Amino acid sequence: MGSHLCDRFIKEHYEVIGMDNLITGDLKNIEHLFKLRNFEFYHHDVSKFVFVPGHLDYILHFASPASPIDYLKIPIQTLKVGSLGTHNLLGLAKGKKARILVASTSEVYGDPTVHPQKEEYWGNVNPVGPRGVYDEAKRFQEAITMAYHTYHGLETRIIRIFNTYGPRMRLNDGRVLPAFIGQALRGEDLTIFGNGSQTRSFCYVDDLVEGIYRLLLSDYHQPVNIGNPDEITIAEFAEEIIKLTGTKQKVIYKDLPVDDPKQRQPDITRAREILKWEPKVSRKEGLTITYEYFKNLPEEELYKSKHRFA
Ligand code: UDP
Repeated sequence: MGSHLCDRFIKEHYEVIGMDNLITGDLKNIEHLFKLRNFEFYHHDVSKFVFVPGHLDYILHFASPASPIDYLKIPIQTLKVGSLGTHNLLGLAKGKKARILVASTSEVYGDPTVHPQKEEYWGNVNPVGPRGVYDEAKRFQEAITMAYHTYHGLETRIIRIFNTYGPRMRLNDGRVLPAFIGQALRGEDLTIFGNGSQTRSFCYVDDLVEGIYRLLLSDYHQPVNIGNPDEITIAEFAEEIIKLTGTKQKVIYKDLPVDDPKQRQPDITRAREILKWEPKVSRKEGLTITYEYFKNLPEEELYKSKHRFA
């Protein structure tokens, strides 16, 4: 997401500073920006005090592992970046009199009992379950962001992001789309967790970036869902990937992870009304572009099974 956001803001002629500790990110996604005069990169962990000289208009806080496999492996860092990291960036925004947009998530709804999920729904989260480290960090993030808005008058924006995909995802990040495509490219069977009846709704990255851009420039401080409401079961999704990649492999079934949400679909009425936004890229189109990207990666990327922090 970070690299795509940098690209968009550069395109809009902003001066952009990227900041990342690269624990899950990769410099090669922003290599093309290093030659630009209006781009700078800081290798820094926002959970530690953040110093940036000069003026800032906007801060976008997207720092966090976001794949369940990642945040299960680095639970403390995940909690810290959602809490301490958010606090540091809110402090920076206050000091610079900048507007801040924070990336929240559909995970604040947990395993939802309301469907599709509206922003008014408070969620069904298990605080001490394995996913709690991400969900509760993001819920805290929303709470402290709202508190800075209310008590300090800070200009804040909160986006709740639903499953997003596109080029530059890590093939080994554990999420379902890179997992399935990676398996197809390596000639392995596709691993469905549980019986595959759980649903997700996948949004193409360019649509998400447009939603973020519009929300940042809007004057709306309540949370806004951004995602694609086109919902599909994971079993159907596996079939789509098999068709797309032409793999001869089959699907195999593995245990469903603890607290894995059974259904997920954003209600995007608010985004439609306030931002005049809705997704434009169909799953078919988005998957074709994304598959092209993965197919053209160097061979060794396919076999990088270890996480960098493992
Ligand atoms: N999933 C799966 N096989 C995989 C990886 C994930 O069946 O190899 C399932 C997972 O259990 C979940 C859905 O796909 O129900 C989406 O998982 P993902 O990790 O992409 O993100 P989540 O939406 O759960 O945050």
